[in-house]
Amino acid sequence: MVATASKTLASQVRQDFPILHQEVNGHPLVYLDNAATSQKPTAVINALRDYYEGDNANVHRGAHTLSNRATDAYEATRDKLAAFINASSRQEIVYTRNASEAINLVAYSWGMSALTAGDEIILSVMEHHSNLIPWQFVAQRTGAVLKFVEPTETGEFNLKQFESLLSDRTKLVSIVHVSNTLGCETPVDKVIPLAHKVGAKVLLDACQSIPHMPIDVQALDCDWLVASGHKMCGPTGIGFLYGKLDLLESMPPFLGGGEMIADVSLEHSTYAELPHKFEAGTPAIGEAIALGAAVDYLSNLGMDNIHAYEAELTRHLFDGLSQIDGITLYGPQPSADGTGRAALAAFTTEAVHAHDLATLIDQSGIAIRSGHHCTQPLHKHLKVSATARASLSFYNTHDEIDQFLTALQDTLEFFASVMDD
Ligand SMILES: *Cc1c(COP(=O)(O)O)cnc(C)c1O
Repeated sequence: MVATASKTLASQVRQDFPILHQEVNGHPLVYLDNAATSQKPTAVINALRDYYEGDNANVHRGAHTLSNRATDAYEATRDKLAAFINASSRQEIVYTRNASEAINLVAYSWGMSALTAGDEIILSVMEHHSNLIPWQFVAQRTGAVLKFVEPTETGEFNLKQFESLLSDRTKLVSIVHVSNTLGCETPVDKVIPLAHKVGAKVLLDACQSIPHMPIDVQALDCDWLVASGHKMCGPTGIGFLYGKLDLLESMPPFLGGGEMIADVSLEHSTYAELPHKFEAGTPAIGEAIALGAAVDYLSNLGMDNIHAYEAELTRHLFDGLSQIDGITLYGPQPSADGTGRAALAAFTTEAVHAHDLATLIDQSGIAIRSGHHCTQPLHKHLKVSATARASLSFYNTHDEIDQFLTALQDTLEFFASVMDD
């Protein structure tokens, strides 16, 4: 039985997450804000502490032992990330602070130099602000034009409209892999070949896919991919950019400083080999090392297992929400087995504003997000100012979802009774 096997997965991993074992407002914590940031297993917390307690030194510099240990551990994460996403070379992995910085790197380095007036960039209306604002900067500076794919009626990527926007003017398609609000999956198997056919590059925002499903950049054939460590069980302050080697080679540096140079004189400098060309200054060493521990942790569980279990949870969440009156859900329904969309639900209710809902539910120890989730244009398109969002991870249980559903129902009933008085 799949259900029994994967219920074992959740109960097996919960002990690895110290933060989950606490009471909030007198109730056991139910953390359902995983799309904003994930919690960290002990292995990750220990990796960070062990680095500072045992190996702290700057990387790529000293001949001394500590520096060598720090450098080896720091560079080992690059190998782990390359293997995790099946990059063809470790040089294709560039450390950044987060996904936002990775997109800015591509926008400033490639966008500002490769694009000219009239070139077209295709984005979607559901992009996170991180994959919108940098391209607005590029458009303002270069005269490139932004074009937007709208979501369909059912809250999915509109492939037909996307095809109609493509032309030989299209130079870039920068698109979210899995939406952090609608939860829909972009049909990348169609989008990427179609973009390449007109000669456009493709950047994939994998923030909401990489923590939840296997990713293979060679199979995807995307030109760049970005992710944040903190959403995949790693620390804050570390993320990465994947880019095809020849493309990264062709791109000028983004930030200048130490670590990214080969030879420096007062007027001119030459730059380091990839990936160091894009890694100016002392990096987040301990955080990168701890991200390696996160990758090991996820790999040991198996991304296929995580995906299958989260699909079960998704089915349970949507079944429960469908039983509650007065809820509007955004994004597509999951299929019968819970797959086909992300393990999150953004919704509004007639009776209670999303912010009040999140605040009231917090009184039962349940953490959900409310607001625009950094997708304000999408919310404008949906004609709502805010949605509530419950987002799941592999350490969540069916029971936790039931507690959330009960708290939600109780809150709505309470408001209904107040309104009747
Ligand atoms: C979180 C998120 C980002 C931005 O990640 P940061 O860590 O804030 O840089 C971008 N896109 C999506 C889809 C996200 O969920």
